[in-house]
Formats: sequence, structure tokens, C-alpha cells
Amino acid sequence: MEYSNNKEYALRLDQEDPLRSYRDKFHHPVQSNGQPYIYMCGNSLGLQPKAVREYVEQELKDWENLGVEGHFHAKNPWMPYHEFLTENMAKIVGGKASEVVVMNTLTVNLHLMMVSFYRPTTERYKIIMEYSAFPSDQYAVQSQVSFHGFDPKESIIELKPREGESLLRTEDILEVIEQEGDAVALVMLGGVNYYTGQFFELDKITEKGHEKGCMVGFDLAHAVGNVKLKLHEWNIDFAVWCTYKYLNSGPGSIAGCFVHENHAERDDLPRFAGWWGHDKDTRFLMGPDFNPIKGAEGWQLSNPPILPLAALRASLDLFGEVGIDALVEKSRKLVAYLEYSLSELNNERIEVISPKVEKERGCQISIRVIDTDKSLFEAISEKGVIADWREPDVIRIAPVPFYNSFSDIYEFVQILKSVL
Ligand SMILES: *Cc1c(COP(=O)(O)O)cnc(C)c1O
Repeated sequence: MEYSNNKEYALRLDQEDPLRSYRDKFHHPVQSNGQPYIYMCGNSLGLQPKAVREYVEQELKDWENLGVEGHFHAKNPWMPYHEFLTENMAKIVGGKASEVVVMNTLTVNLHLMMVSFYRPTTERYKIIMEYSAFPSDQYAVQSQVSFHGFDPKESIIELKPREGESLLRTEDILEVIEQEGDAVALVMLGGVNYYTGQFFELDKITEKGHEKGCMVGFDLAHAVGNVKLKLHEWNIDFAVWCTYKYLNSGPGSIAGCFVHENHAERDDLPRFAGWWGHDKDTRFLMGPDFNPIKGAEGWQLSNPPILPLAALRASLDLFGEVGIDALVEKSRKLVAYLEYSLSELNNERIEVISPKVEKERGCQISIRVIDTDKSLFEAISEKGVIADWREPDVIRIAPVPFYNSFSDIYEFVQILKSVL
């Protein structure tokens, strides 16, 4: 595609954008001078869909008017409320409805999944993960390994990019699984790396892991709502994700979990149980014996918080309306335009470390700032850009297809240019 580096061109791309009307379905933070910020941080916290207020107010009203009776008599009864989100969520991750549940928070779900799917033995006890993974994932994995009496130093294999490279090569990941696999109980990576924005080849990694007899799970925090996923088809054993990034559900909101149907009826899998995972027909008999729901819902612990579910539901309904394919299509155009505009700057103080190949990335571009401190980032922040800085030297920029425009990218690059 031919691009031009001027404002009229960006405006034309916006006019031609079939999703342009969705920008206005979100609240955009405003600066003290009355101008909206250029919000490029949906990979950290998605913007608030305007419909969230109405969805949450409905539940507040029913609580106000009905009290406990709302569990059955609310407009959207609370007892099965989480089920109202399942279909849209399952579509986003490419799972069957029975394989997907919204519950808890991300790190909690990661622990619950490892309780069931990390079953170390003296011969097979290692975990393969990314070097420098998101800290919560590192802590969760280390603590699981220690909990089972193994030494994290010796039991965790970290995948590192080659010397002088920023990204992991699939061939290298597969090679490590091939070499080490016989001693590996679990392969657990982020689906999209939070630092570089690299989208790993989940299907190939899963296939190789299974070939070597390992369980394979993914943390999809930066993948869900961002890239096209086919968790069922790819035979992934389990996956977990949060919903406050690309799924716009609000700070600290409720998370998601996928368990492949291959495991739905396995009663040999240990799990940490709670009453909400118990068979729905007999849950309120309050009996002493746990009888899990077959499928992902069987891993639920508690009756879920309805207000965060309502906020997430508002956002998922937008996803249901637009579909992930249309979002990915726009995302690719936004990122290609951002990549072009950055290259036009032709400045040796910045380097894009995200993948250059379309199918290896989502909508995040990570810019490494060469030989400088955080001052460049602070300068663009002062000029109205909300992005995010990751130590030691990376600015992460995420133009989100739901609410970012080509003009946002144009303005952002102009600001960057002015401070470079
Ligand atoms: C955002 C993120 C988390 C955050 O975990 P919470 O339990 O939601 O606080 C964990 N892991 C990854 C990879 C993330 O991107």
C-alpha cells in the first residue's frame, strides 16, 4: 500500500474506515486544556465503553429494588449472569462455549490452571516459559514449582532471544521443547509478549509440546481481543487472560479462562474447588461432596462479582457486534500506517523492536529509545500522549482498532518528531 505523510491522508483513511463510528462509543480522557489525549495505552487499560454505565446501573437498580431476590428476579438474573458473557467470549478466543468461563482474576486463574495442569513427577517436572516474562507470571510459576518441592532455578527453562535479537524465533522455541521436552511437565508462555508485542505461533508450540508429552497453556493477557485466536482448534490445554486491557472491562475487572474439552470430563485431574464449580442442579442442596460441572465452569470457585461482569458484558456486546475479524483487519492497517510513519522519521535514536511480519504481531508497537533515559517518554506525555514506558528503554504504543484513528497515529508521530 502507498502511504502519504500528511494530515489529509490520515483523515482520508479515517473516512474510509468501516469501524469509524465505534470511536464515539468510548469515553476518551481529556486534558486540562480541553483537548482529548492521544490514547495509545489500550494494552494496559482499555477505554470505557459508554454503554458500561447503563449495564452497571441496571444491576445497581435491581440490587436496590430486589435485594437478594435479584439472584432470580433481576432483569438479568445474577445466578446465571456469567453465562450471558460466555458466547461472545468464546468467539473472541476461538473456543466452544463449554470451554470458556469468566471468573476470578488473571493470576488467580493461572494458579488454578497450574494446580490442575502442572503435575510434576521426579522425571518430568520442568516448566518452559519466556525469559523476562510478565513478573506476575514469573512469581506464579516459581511459587508453583517450590510448592511441589522442586527448585525453581533448576526447574524453570527460560526461552531467550538470540544474542543481539529482541524476538524469539519459533524454530528456537521448538528446538528447546524438542531437546528438553522429556523432563518438561508444562510449557507456559504469554500468547503475545507484553514487552515486544510478539505474537507467538501458539499452534506450532502446542503441537510440539504435545509431541513430547507436555501440557501446554498460555497467558493471553495481551492477545485476547487483539489477535485472532483458535484455542480449540489449536488443541491448547488451558489459557487464562485478564479483560481490562483490550477487552475494556475496567480496572482490575474479572478475568477469563479456557479449558480444552479434552479435559472436561477427566476426573483424574486435581483441582482447587469451590461451590460455584459444583453441578448447578444440586449446588443448593449444599451437600458435602463436590461434583464439578463438566467443562471450564467446573473450575469456578465463588459466586462472581456482578458489577464487573456487567461492565465486561457491555464491552463484549460490542465485540459481538463487530467481530474479531473486522477488528484485526483494521488493527493491521493502523499498525502498518504507524510503522510507515515511524520509518519516515528516519531517526537513529529510535528503533522498533516489534515484529515486522503482520501475522507475528497484534496492535502493539514497542519502540526502543537508544542511549537515553525516560525523558523522551516524559516529553511526549507532556504533549498529550498517553502511552507506556517499560524499563529499561521501551515505549509501548498500542493503536486499538475499536477507538483509535489514523489521525491519532499521525498526531502521535508529529509529537514524537517534535521532541526527538
Ligand atoms: C497484565 C498482565 C498480568 C496482570 O495480572 P493480574 O492478575 O490481572 O493483575 C499478568 N500477566 C501478564 C502477561 C499480563 O500482561
